[in-house]
Amino acid sequence: MARKHIVIVGTNFGGYTAALELKELVGDNHDITVIANTHKFLFFPSLIWYPFGLRDEKDITFDVRHQYSKHSIKFIEDEVDLFDPPNNGVITRHNGIVSYDYLIIATGPKVDYDYIPGLREHSYSIVGLNPAQRTREAWQRFLADPGPVVIASAQGAACFGAAYEFLFNVRYQLAKNSLDKTCSLTYSTAEPFLAHFGINGFGNAQQMCEWFFKHYHIQAHLNASIKEVRADGVELENGEFLPSKFTMIMPRFLGIDAVRNTPQLANDKGFIVTDKGYRHHIFPNIFAAGVAVHIAPPGETPVPCGVPKTGYPTEQMAKTAVKNIIADIKGLPQVEQAFEDINAYCIMDTGNMGMMIVGDHMVSPREHEYIIPGPEAHWAKIAFEKYFLFSRKHGKV
Ligand SMILES: Cc1cc2nc3c(=O)[nH]c(=O)nc-3n(C[C@H](O)[C@H](O)[C@H](O)COP(=O)(O)OP(=O)(O)OC[C@H]3O[C@@H](n4cnc5c(N)ncnc54)[C@H](O)[C@@H]3O)c2cc1C
Repeated sequence: MARKHIVIVGTNFGGYTAALELKELVGDNHDITVIANTHKFLFFPSLIWYPFGLRDEKDITFDVRHQYSKHSIKFIEDEVDLFDPPNNGVITRHNGIVSYDYLIIATGPKVDYDYIPGLREHSYSIVGLNPAQRTREAWQRFLADPGPVVIASAQGAACFGAAYEFLFNVRYQLAKNSLDKTCSLTYSTAEPFLAHFGINGFGNAQQMCEWFFKHYHIQAHLNASIKEVRADGVELENGEFLPSKFTMIMPRFLGIDAVRNTPQLANDKGFIVTDKGYRHHIFPNIFAAGVAVHIAPPGETPVPCGVPKTGYPTEQMAKTAVKNIIADIKGLPQVEQAFEDINAYCIMDTGNMGMMIVGDHMVSPREHEYIIPGPEAHWAKIAFEKYFLFSRKHGKV
């Protein structure tokens, strides 16, 4: 069988999983190259704690190069500027064109800070280490000069779980700093109901969230579209103004520029349209995994909501793509694993409590869906963080 060159772009949940899974399954029979603009794996879920000084970079990242060199996977640390699907090429900034027989794109999101006036200047973010560092500094300034707080999931956002977790952690930190009686806390969201999450809800999460909001006096604005973010608050499209001294907004995600700018590779938002085996709908030797993949919302909402492509489904998409590349090489039938059929696993932290969310499908209808609330969920999240980082650092995917 002729040797194939399989190139993977991205080295986080999707790319790292794909590379190690591929190596495990094909051994030295084919060549694997990973290209990414960083050599660090970042465990995004812990960024909800970073702004409060509860985690530092070293606690939530590891160097991927060790595993790649141990497994003879070539690693190129470089920015990908464009793809050239008709000629099977990846155009890098400093390493020229890298040719492939098969390509997996797992490049995650470009966070769109420019579609709402004032979003970039007047709100904080937790999507990435640098934004989270800025948010940490802003939180320190806020503690010295406190006031109302607004946390929001903007129109088109998809990463709702992280926004809720940050909201609840802010609530916990306000209480710890004896500010909960004096600082109002408001959550503005594109969702039509609390805990919709972009997937039409999950079990009784809505009721639990409603209880939590009531109990802790968190004001909710549903179906909210943000018109403008200002230094002193957030103006909604319906004319309401939410005063704020500390504003964290989860914006919408787009596909990265290199994907969006490549003709025929992606839709207008830069997400890659694939079949249920994560194979590109036009270019059969290109696959995608994770946030890079286009997943249609399960239903229309009055204000647009995206679908959260979280860690577990991202890894499953990567593994399915890997299986299909191997099947293609061997002339075997393709396998399918539709996004909505992937199991749902998530732990939502609230600072000192949380809820464990387990379901047999990402999107309803589900036969099994369980929510286990309580302090043990908080400890489970911490235990999972340690387990995940240890196992991935040591090459287990
Ligand atoms: C604050 C926060 C909290 C979260 N919490 C949870 C949680 O509790 N549970 C959960 O399941 N999910 C959670 N998620 C979602 C989870 O982080 C994503 O599902 C996951 O990161 C998606 O993986 P990915 O590989 O698709 O993209 P990413 O993790 O974003 O990885 C993209 C990779 O591509 C590389 N790359 C990007 N552009 C280029 C380029 N031009 N050239 C070269 N390389 C490039 C990047 O360096 C990176 O290696 C959270 C997300 C956030 C933001």
